[in-house]
Order: sequence, then structure tokens, then C-alpha cells
Amino acid sequence: MANPSILILAGDGIGPEVMAEVKKIIGWFGDRRGIAFDVTEDLVGGSAYDVHGTPLTDATMAKAQAVDAVLLGAVGGPKYDVLDFSVKPERGLLRLRKEMDLYSNLRPAQCFDALADFSSLKRDVVAGLDIMIVRELTSGVYFGEPRGIFPDNEGGRVGVNTQRYTTDEIRRVARSAFELARRRGNKVCSMEKANVMESGILWREEVQWVHDNEYPDVELSHMYADAGAMQLVRWPKQFDVIVTDNLFGDLLSDCAAMLTGSLGMLPSASLGAPTESGRPKALYEPVHGSAPDIAGQGKANPIACILSFAMALRYSFDMGEEATRVERAVEAVLADGARTADLMGPEGGVPVSTAGMGDLIVKALEASL
Ligand code: NAD
Repeated sequence: MANPSILILAGDGIGPEVMAEVKKIIGWFGDRRGIAFDVTEDLVGGSAYDVHGTPLTDATMAKAQAVDAVLLGAVGGPKYDVLDFSVKPERGLLRLRKEMDLYSNLRPAQCFDALADFSSLKRDVVAGLDIMIVRELTSGVYFGEPRGIFPDNEGGRVGVNTQRYTTDEIRRVARSAFELARRRGNKVCSMEKANVMESGILWREEVQWVHDNEYPDVELSHMYADAGAMQLVRWPKQFDVIVTDNLFGDLLSDCAAMLTGSLGMLPSASLGAPTESGRPKALYEPVHGSAPDIAGQGKANPIACILSFAMALRYSFDMGEEATRVERAVEAVLADGARTADLMGPEGGVPVSTAGMGDLIVKALEASL
């Protein structure tokens, strides 16, 4: 059988720096676990624009469509701020998401014990937290038509966006959430605003339909998204999987992410429909951007990118145990006090560089054998 294939798009700024550490982990799996990946690399974002005059070439797009998983670093930087909107680095990322039809965005909020004091919430509220927010990514108010800024009848203007969801769009992301829940705590909480929005009523009914007809074994609850936001900061451990639309997911996943501390710790996955191989189309990336303020200084925390690879092991390659091995290695290194600059809290720690953190995680993987 062919090796699983990965396309690495390291991108700009700290993207290549953090991705270099992921490559060490991938190499370790080949050398020490006999799990070889066919890895190809290409350009995206500003680095692609510099060479090709576009943030994503058709050839790179075709490669992304053909592999089992895409790993992306980050795109963007001040150098590219002046570019026309159509060739800005972010357009490369948006094209990938759109053409791969990655409708299910998974944002875990996981709090490692060693970093519990980083949260703005009390330690006992966040320590050991492990929840997953599933955000619908390709529809809703960010895409709905009509949209625009139009003259109104009184000489002023009116700004219009349209929240729009179809049965199919809701059902497919709901399935994604129920599938995930079965592999975790078997609970889904769906969030919308059915009290004031028709699209929310439809969302609630369709999620319930998928539950009743296809996943009756999973516990389902519904919550208004504003109440959900409050519950997230009051007692987040009540949740397992939260599924919600594009707009509410944008807000709730950032809110949940901050429960856990640094931006340098947050992975994500964006999944599409299952392909012939049974694997979903998939793109894995850290939540953070290209951090131009620290690029090239060895200060970037590679953990978000490494945990994104762990998500690829779990969700693209069905290697849950190996994913857990990576997560435990990260946990062990943090418990030993190793800290990149962003993790240096008042209690101090052992300062390490980007490469130093990657090396320690490889060491911890080795110790897990
Ligand atoms: P950012 O996430 O790049 O940085 C925000 C802050 O967090 C900075 O102080 C940065 O140093 C720090 N930070 C981020 N990642 C870190 C890491 N791994 N380790 C340590 N510190 C880290 O967001 P920004 O400054 O708003 O944007 C910078 C550029 O990145 C912009 O061009 C923006 O458009 C782009 N961006 C890209 C993505 C993406 O590729 N998905 C996401 C967000 C922003």
C-alpha cells in the first residue's frame, strides 16, 4: 500500500521555522515507528507571490487536491500589505479552503496542566480542559447573497449581509460533529440563535434530524449561542463537542482558544467530504499567523504546528494512538518547564528556542518507546 501523502506549505514569516520542527517529528515517525509519509513541499502566500506572482499556483492547488493531507504554516506579512486584494497572501489560503470545500473547521481547546496558570480563568476551571469546537466554514453570513453596501432611499447607505444555510450544509457539518463526538466524550452541543433567526430554527431542526436518524447514541443538546458564550467561560468542562455556524463559530472558537493561554499552542483542522480513500479532504494549520514581529529570531513556539500534525495523524491517518503520543510528548516537555518566549509566565521556566522545543519533543517521543 502507498505511504500516506502530505503536502507541506510552510508559507511566510515564522511558518517555515515552525514547520521545520514538524518535519523533525515526521522524520522521527519514519525512522523510529516505521510510519513513512510521502512528503512534498511547495510555496503558498507571499513566498509564492515572490516567485510566481500569485499566492497559490494552479499546480500547487492540484497537488493539494491529490494528497491525503495538507499541512500549512502561516501566510502574510507587512511586505505584502500593499498588494492588490486579489493576490494578497491570504487569498492563497482562502482558495485552498474553497476549492477543497473544507466545510468543517475543528478547533480544539485543550489546556495542558503545566500551562493552566496562563489562562485568565481560575486553574480549576481550565486545568485538564479538552473540548472541540466544530465551526461551519464555507457558508453562512460570510458568504450569503445579497451582500454589499447600497444607497438607501433617504440619501444614506445600507450595508447588507445575508445569513443563509441549506439543509445539506447543516447536515454535513452536523455529521462531522457527531462522528467526532463518538471518538471522544459522545456529547454534542449545537449552538445557534433559534430565538431570533429563522436560519437558527432550521439549524436546530436539521441537527436534531441528523441526530435522531443517524446518531441517536450520541447525547445532543441545543443552546443559544450567547448563552453558550457565557457557559464557555463559566464552566467549559461541561462541553465535549460544540457545533455551530460560521459566524458564531468564529467568535466562540477564539473565545474557547483563549481559555488555554498562548496563541502559539493552538492547532486546527479543516475537513471536507470523505474522498474515495475514505479520508476526508483535509488541511491542518496552527491558528496563529506569520508573526512578523518575531520571525527569524528563533522565538516562535512550534507547538501549535506540531499539534496540528497530531490532528492529521488522528483525523486523516486514523493513527489516534500516535497522535496521543505526540500530545503526551508535548505535555511532558512543558511539565519539565521548557518554555519558548511566549510561554514565559511569572513562574519562569527553562527558556528554549524554536528548534530547542522541537528537539525536546523528539526526545520525549523517543522516551515514549
Ligand atoms: P499573528 O498570529 O501572526 O501574531 C499575533 C501575536 O502573537 C504576535 O505578537 C506574535 O509574535 C505572536 N505569535 C503568533 N504565533 C506565535 C508563535 N507560534 N509563537 C510565539 N508567538 C506567536 O497575528 P498578526 O500579528 O495579527 O498577523 C501577522 C500576519 O499574519 C498578518 O500578515 C496576518 O494577515 C497574517 N495572518 C495569517 C494567518 C494564517 O496564515 N492563517 C492567520 C492570522 C494572521
